[in-house]
Amino acid sequence: MSMAALLETNRKVLFPGLAGGWHYLDTAATAQKPQAVIDATVAAMGRDYATVHRGVYARSAEMTLAFEAARRKVAGFIGGREEEVVFTRGATEAINLVAQTWGQANLKAGDRILLSLLEHHSNIVPWQLLAERTGVAIDVCPLTSDGRIDLDAAEAMLTPAHRLVALAHVSNVLGSTLDASRAARLAHGVGAKLLLDGCQAVPRLAIDVAALDCDFYAFSAHKLYGPTGIGVLWARAEILADMPPWQGGGAMIDRVSFAGTTFAPPPPRFEAGTPAIVEAIGLGAAVDYVAGIGLGAIHAHETALVRTLRDELRRMNDITLFGPEDSAGIVSFALEGVHPHDLGTILDEEGVAIRAGHHCAQPLMEHLGVPATARASFGLYSDEDDVTALLRGIDRTRRIFG
Ligand code: PMP
Repeated sequence: MSMAALLETNRKVLFPGLAGGWHYLDTAATAQKPQAVIDATVAAMGRDYATVHRGVYARSAEMTLAFEAARRKVAGFIGGREEEVVFTRGATEAINLVAQTWGQANLKAGDRILLSLLEHHSNIVPWQLLAERTGVAIDVCPLTSDGRIDLDAAEAMLTPAHRLVALAHVSNVLGSTLDASRAARLAHGVGAKLLLDGCQAVPRLAIDVAALDCDFYAFSAHKLYGPTGIGVLWARAEILADMPPWQGGGAMIDRVSFAGTTFAPPPPRFEAGTPAIVEAIGLGAAVDYVAGIGLGAIHAHETALVRTLRDELRRMNDITLFGPEDSAGIVSFALEGVHPHDLGTILDEEGVAIRAGHHCAQPLMEHLGVPATARASFGLYSDEDDVTALLRGIDRTRRIFG
């Protein structure tokens, strides 16, 4: 369905979570689900349900085909190969998987990792845990004044001791988009791998991991209009092939005996246990849905809403705007004299849902010199009414606080 057709049709019907005149501006936290995704998961959990990979009966074979079709859809959606797509619980688990398998096997004291100041905690803490175990050192790339990862600084910081550069493709707070291809050139120039945290990029930008030339790409389905409980680690086939297993159990083995166990090739090597079958099929449906509308249209739609909101907020002299002008679908701001939580609570009374907090990016908050920000984030279903309702709510909050 085209973007125009979507907005003309009753979006509250297509997205049941938006019913009741609710202005949902927290899509960066998690996206509302289209009916098509809900229907796919209901069918997978009901009428079509069976286990995968093991059953000898027809229903299980069909379910296995549907499950593997979802993997194929994801691969096509991001320009990767099927055997490079590992299903995880989400982006957080995907990054932990890389840290605990690739990181543990390849990094040692004396090696360095480059992160940035705007990373989500899930792209900081797994590396700190690894650093504690291995003695690897972490460097933090600063930001430009408009809130982008400063790749000139990264270039100056990188040394042959750096084995990994791990950066957000789009910031969940500032909406700034990384020049990922340049990041790849810089990382590879010193012999480091590049991991991209694609959580906020995948729902907003067309992704081609081959063109980006990254080594690892992580994202969560629930921000891509799919279910919670499933996400993706994409990694280059040759890197995955050398990665040791992580969790042990069923499905990840080749042959088990008490004398020793051999392991399956990737991706099953990293998918121990019965997988999230229903969720994977839901993710496949979400990919179909988003691809059907087209990321070009979604990006243009969100960009127009960001521009309208930023233009309005910029005119208010008690508002501080964070992040670059071309932020991707996400607008963080502060209203002078009002804690973001109070703003969020008053907006909620008006039927407007925003996020208020540190957004799991405490080092970035410290850098911005604030305990929290208010964040409005758009999705493909957002519209001008949502912006108007937010502005009305900000106005009311201002009057309440005098
Ligand atoms: N990275 C970024 C940039 C995010 O926005 C999020 C979710 N807020 C995550 C990582 C973690 O995703 P999840 O909680 O779905 O694992």
